[in-house]
Amino acid sequence: MRQIAVIGAGVIGVTSALEVQTKLGKSVTVTIFSDRFSPNTTGDVSAGLWTPYILQDTPMDNIIKWSKETYDYALKLWQDGEAEKAGISLQVMTELLDKPEEQIPEWVSLTLGHCILDANQIAAINRKYRANYCKGVTFTAFILEPQRLLPFLMEQFKKAGGKIIQRKINSFDELSSYDVIVNCTGLEAKQLTDDKLLQPVRGQIMRVEAPGQFHCIMEPETYIIPNMDCVILGGTHQENSWDLNVSKSDADGIAQRCRQFSPSLESSKLIKHMVGLRPGRSSVILRTEIRTLRDGKRIPIVHNYGHGGSGVTLSIGCATSARKLVEDALIGNFQNKISKL
Ligand SMILES: Cc1cc2nc3c(=O)[nH]c(=O)nc-3n(C[C@H](O)[C@H](O)[C@H](O)COP(=O)(O)OP(=O)(O)OC[C@H]3O[C@@H](n4cnc5c(N)ncnc54)[C@H](O)[C@@H]3O)c2cc1C
Repeated sequence: MRQIAVIGAGVIGVTSALEVQTKLGKSVTVTIFSDRFSPNTTGDVSAGLWTPYILQDTPMDNIIKWSKETYDYALKLWQDGEAEKAGISLQVMTELLDKPEEQIPEWVSLTLGHCILDANQIAAINRKYRANYCKGVTFTAFILEPQRLLPFLMEQFKKAGGKIIQRKINSFDELSSYDVIVNCTGLEAKQLTDDKLLQPVRGQIMRVEAPGQFHCIMEPETYIIPNMDCVILGGTHQENSWDLNVSKSDADGIAQRCRQFSPSLESSKLIKHMVGLRPGRSSVILRTEIRTLRDGKRIPIVHNYGHGGSGVTLSIGCATSARKLVEDALIGNFQNKISKL
């Protein structure tokens, strides 16, 4: 039996661990090592909207491949009647752009349906919101709520024979007895790997009770995303800020901008403010490093982190790619290896 260690129990770690444990079956045992679990991961802050966002120079081919696999996964659960248990809902999103040079993103064509707004529709929206948008699109988006999805996936992982250990890993040397390590530590990979390209992108949101709010809307500064038990009002994207405290001025700005789109939110009841740090990186890293540990053992480490504002959106696709790298590592095929990050 080969032993695989997955570090991290955020949306990236749990999807990777489940994929390896279920697809490689009885030949492996996967153990998740993590110091935090849901509801205390970065994904638990997020609305879980399927939308590629803050991915910097990640190649578009990869974004398309990984996000499509996640979309198809959500669609299948939705069709199989598992959506509610997994925290998945299908909603119409309107995305508005205010810079003429920005293009309607190519990934909208992956969705079940999309419609680019014409000049009359944009003009009407601009009149209604006293705004200055130049483009927009509506598309069918899935929402995969991590606070429900993570326990759902964890249950499947345990049923498949996966093990879970709550522990902080301070160095890969601690996992020398394993055959392969999968590193899904999000922003904290900065400490574990000394990756200088990782930077926090702070996000603050509000969770409110607004049962009458059905429509999703997103524009450069603002979003309104209904979840099953609440509505997420956002948000901020503050680069290089490590501040996990709730900022009153951010909260006031979010509330005021969201009310412009949906005045009825004025009477919504605040559930809580939340802040999270997105793992921003010049590009998602999904590669195998062969590292020599202190005891002299050479171990393959599959790095899967740096998903910016899209960890939920890319999770299932990245888990499939990570599992393929683990398979390669187990048979000693290190095609994608790197000796250093
Ligand atoms: C406000 C906000 C809104 C967002 N909205 C969306 C959205 O709508 N859609 C979307 O797709 N994405 C969204 N995101 C981004 C998304 O949440 C992240 O990309 C995603 O959660 C990253 O997942 P992760 O598993 O890599 O990291 P994390 O969730 O941070 O998980 C890292 C895990 O590793 C563990 N860990 C780290 N270091 C160690 C160690 N040394 N030893 C042991 N365990 C360790 C931690 O305990 C944790 O369990 C949003 C983020 C924020 C902040």
